Amino acid sequence: MSLVWSIALCGAVAGARADTIVLKNGRRIVVERATESGDKVIGETQAGEISLPKSMVERIEHTTVATPATVATDRTTSAGFVIAPPSTQTELMLDPEVAHAAVHDGAIDKVYIARLDGAAVNGAPGAAPRAAAAHCVAAEFETQNGNLSAAVDQERQALRFLPNSVPLLVGAAYGHLKLSEYSTALEYLTRAKRTAPDSPDVAKLSGWAEYGLNHIPEAVQEWKRAQQLRPDPEVAKALEKAERDARAENDFRQGQTSHFVLRYSGAAQPGLAADILGTLEIHFEQIASLLDYTPPEPIGVILYTNEQFEDITRAPAWAGAINDGRLRIPVQGLTSVTQQLSLVLRHELTHSFLQQKTRGRCPPWLHEGIAQWIEGRRVGPAAAGLLGAFDHQAGIPLADLEVSWMRLSGTGASYAYAWSLAVVETILANHSMADLVRILDALTASGSTEGAVRSVLHEGYTELEQQTADYLRSTYGRN
Ligand SMILES: [Zn+2]
Repeated sequence: MSLVWSIALCGAVAGARADTIVLKNGRRIVVERATESGDKVIGETQAGEISLPKSMVERIEHTTVATPATVATDRTTSAGFVIAPPSTQTELMLDPEVAHAAVHDGAIDKVYIARLDGAAVNGAPGAAPRAAAAHCVAAEFETQNGNLSAAVDQERQALRFLPNSVPLLVGAAYGHLKLSEYSTALEYLTRAKRTAPDSPDVAKLSGWAEYGLNHIPEAVQEWKRAQQLRPDPEVAKALEKAERDARAENDFRQGQTSHFVLRYSGAAQPGLAADILGTLEIHFEQIASLLDYTPPEPIGVILYTNEQFEDITRAPAWAGAINDGRLRIPVQGLTSVTQQLSLVLRHELTHSFLQQKTRGRCPPWLHEGIAQWIEGRRVGPAAAGLLGAFDHQAGIPLADLEVSWMRLSGTGASYAYAWSLAVVETILANHSMADLVRILDALTASGSTEGAVRSVLHEGYTELEQQTADYLRSTYGRN
């Protein structure tokens, strides 16, 4: 259930402590928000969600903390960091004539750019930088419209004319990083390094690529260098996390399959590691075919003994799994993959797919709705409560579930999980998985989830909510 990017979406609440979970053994755990869901109590911490059986919990103490939540931004990476676009990118776009001619009236002027390309290919004086600048302007336009693949394509075309331009290489690398294509990004950065060995941007992005590839010591090295060249709060934060990982994983063993890089301490059972990899591979294939998407790089998975987990994630010892770009799973005492662990892996892995597929644009309700559905959950007995809320107009509009759930009360968050599942279940009952995938693709391109729902299902949130209520009534019965 854990979603560190949902925490990343709510950066402003970092440090705001709202609820205390009081355990029957007297231990008190302070979390940002605690909610009850079925037979579990779920607490949100800065490190992600934790879940524990209700039977362990004496009570939850709520305190109200008014904190402004920030809105999701596109800067959160699938590795869980917030990294702004490199500052050097616009250097080439200063030619105002090219800028105006390459993109106007809300579209790229392909004819104009083709003419510049032709002149550059024919070796006309000064033509190569102009052609490169035009593609750069086009790349910026595509980026602004959410067409990241098209933007990367434009960057590549610009590089044909200025193959050693550091801003272009860095821009292309940034695009590939946003697409979670870390190996390709690293190739561009290696080229950039030859021309600009002391560029802080190159070092910063190289660290990101290495981290994405689960090369933690290399990531630490790059980010340390970036900090020497130009101190940067984003890098400082990423470096701190990578160093924590590096310390913990120093004596870890590693296992690898085509889709996963698994690290585990010697204390974990080797048989368990192999078992988890096998389970993940099965889930991977199924989720890939359901969502029609294959993450481009292996996904990092780390098995912790509970003590390490507490140190690294700063979550309590009994916490559930966490997904912050890498799947972090406490396995103390386990010798094989239980049914429950398998479902946790499936749920968390779905978040990884969604995060990468939509490049961080999937809103919380759709993230949690799909992850729960793929995990195998259905609305079931929760339908009555959801319908009660809907009929009394006491529910939370989907538009409000697009942003941080942090401001919700405990009951509100339980409702949010259940209603999100209900909406996804309804879409899948009335339409199809292919339509759901189309919605994901459309929202990745446009950044608007309701717009994506409207373009695929030909209905807005109001109709979708009504349909969900109708579906719940007819499926789970309530008069
Ligand atoms: Zn979740």
